[in-house]
Amino acid sequence: LSWKVFRDDAHKLIDHIADRHEAAEAAVTGSLCEPLVGGHWSGKADLSGMERVLEDCAATSRSTHDPPTTSPFSSVVEDVQSISSGLIDWQSKGFMSFFPGQLSPAAMLGELLALSYNHAGFAWSTCPASTELEFRVVNTMGRLLGLPAAFATSADSSGGGSIHPNATEGLLVAMIAARDEKKRLLALNQGQAGTSSFPFTCYTSDQSHFSVEKACKMAGGITLRKVKTILDPRCENYPLHPTTLEEMIVEDMMNGQIPLMIVGTVGTTATCAIDPTRQLASIAKNAGAWLHIDAAYAGAAALCPELRPIVFDGIELCDSVSVNGSKWMAMSMGCSFFFTQHLSLITKALSCGASYVPQPPPGVHDLKDVSIGMARPWTSLKVYSVLRCVGVDALQGMIRRHVILAEYLDAKLRAHPSIDCVVRPVLGLVVFRVRMLSDESNAELQRRLSAHRNILVGASRVDTRFVLRVSLAHIHLTYDDVDNIYIAISEELKK
Ligand code: PLP
Repeated sequence: LSWKVFRDDAHKLIDHIADRHEAAEAAVTGSLCEPLVGGHWSGKADLSGMERVLEDCAATSRSTHDPPTTSPFSSVVEDVQSISSGLIDWQSKGFMSFFPGQLSPAAMLGELLALSYNHAGFAWSTCPASTELEFRVVNTMGRLLGLPAAFATSADSSGGGSIHPNATEGLLVAMIAARDEKKRLLALNQGQAGTSSFPFTCYTSDQSHFSVEKACKMAGGITLRKVKTILDPRCENYPLHPTTLEEMIVEDMMNGQIPLMIVGTVGTTATCAIDPTRQLASIAKNAGAWLHIDAAYAGAAALCPELRPIVFDGIELCDSVSVNGSKWMAMSMGCSFFFTQHLSLITKALSCGASYVPQPPPGVHDLKDVSIGMARPWTSLKVYSVLRCVGVDALQGMIRRHVILAEYLDAKLRAHPSIDCVVRPVLGLVVFRVRMLSDESNAELQRRLSAHRNILVGASRVDTRFVLRVSLAHIHLTYDDVDNIYIAISEELKK
């Protein structure tokens, strides 16, 4: 518990972290991607060493006589190295699965600085600067993403935003607010006061992230309806088709269902399809439903004005939207921006308090009233650090580079005689499968890339077929790296 020891340990730890990252950068020059630590996608995790330590901890805590045995921090670093075969290092250049979880030195340092204050900023009164910085940072992010002022927190707007630990919580909060407001309106219009349950439905495409299903489960009493997608030749992808959605809603309404929410996805996880926000907004308006846009990954592209029309066309018409800072903005885990035109409905749905929590000043929301948890990390300081030290120009440059590199890889793969590219890439995701090979053989290629080449590509199913996903997102990814990925794929195919 000594700060003198902390000083020494922290210096060593920072060196260790920087060494790992620098070594990984050096390893890729002219060669195939190397993981930062440990193994491939072994599917195993041997934690026996750490298990023994935990058993010792439990044993000593039961003893009242023996002095507890503790270790220097360097042993924690060693323990982590001992489980490296089970670690999948998302910061490796070879990690191309899922969507990215980018990290920058500024995010890491910002988070460390924030942690050193360690306040529980759930209410303005617990640390006014924490709440004030969050609203300012989120407003700034909204402006950078090109969102209209109606989504900003201000004295003359009922909209606003906040930071959630993940996109799922932002969606859940929106769903709860939509449900409460809908109940209130139904009670008002139909005199159904006192009815606690309504047959509410939430609509989303069959390509949406499973967080939509999770949010429906957590909110409770909301039936999820998935709209089937088919290949749309105009965009060569699988967006939600407005007419199919409309027909489903009309049919459900005739059967007594009440449309509560439509969740459109800008950048679906399997293929980065972009649902048409503008058309969804008009359907939502007619059906009296809340439109939430899940732009957890692809929303970051709106930082680049020229990409904004691709991802945010019609965004001014949605009720709420989530964009993760943790994915493609180098802001590390635990950071999802949530913007809504109806923050007041969210505070109405979620606000609660106690005599020991002083009220915020007029015009200010407590963060506890716009999110799920109470005590929360000071994430806005981390975001501030990235904006101040990395800067928007660098983020834009990185996003543009990934988009170009995805087109480059896609073109190379399309030219390969045995490969089919499954969709046309719009942002940083390339999706392909090997023609004439079974799903199992395509899955085998995924395993071989991981085992022999240290490249972990993702997989999904599109139109029932197994496909491989290459998510190009490492902060320092280069043309050479992409050439190496292509060589790895084509050489593994020759075997
Ligand atoms: N939406 C999309 C499109 C995603 O790709 C993901 C995660 O990868 C999520 C939502 C869930 O995000 P979170 O883990 O922040 O809840």
